[in-house]
Amino acid sequence: MAIEQTLILCKPDAVARGLVGEIVARFERRGYVVAALKLLVCDRARAEQHYAEHKGKPFYEGLVSFITSGPLLALVVAGAGAIDGCRSTIGATDPIKAAPGSIRGDYAQTIGRNLVHGSDSLDAAGREIPIWFEPSEIVGRRNDLEHWIVAS
Ligand code: UDP
Ligand code: MG
Repeated sequence: MAIEQTLILCKPDAVARGLVGEIVARFERRGYVVAALKLLVCDRARAEQHYAEHKGKPFYEGLVSFITSGPLLALVVAGAGAIDGCRSTIGATDPIKAAPGSIRGDYAQTIGRNLVHGSDSLDAAGREIPIWFEPSEIVGRRNDLEHWIVAS
């Protein structure tokens, strides 16, 4: 399984509710590593770039307004199959459908306040990570990460 990097956002509702420690811990407990992390307030330009695929959809304006409404925690999380693995730890987009045990299934009620973003494909991760991080802010190269993750 290839070592992948994925973009994770603990959205403003996660920061406001004091859940970022819990959320990051879930990725770490699964064996993924934090390769980059920063707290910031996302401006409209960055939000539009990040959510470009959703422009024109009925929820787009609300989504951009929400993601820019307060501080969020952005991370690059790395590990074997991290893109799909983190998506399963996050759970389905609509928390009503998210499995108990997933982040959204355990902590979220509504689709508009579903706490976390995770890249949904290799292409998306490759597009999204540079929107949030400079290469120099990401610790460890992909090939160097394996020995951190697989101890045995
Ligand atoms: N969203 C929403 N209403 C919808 C669909 C999506 O508010 O009907 C929001 C939701 O917060 C979601 C984000 O838009 O996390 C991006 O949607 P996407 O389908 O990419 O879901 P995700 O990849 O976050 O699971
Ligand atoms: Mg998405």
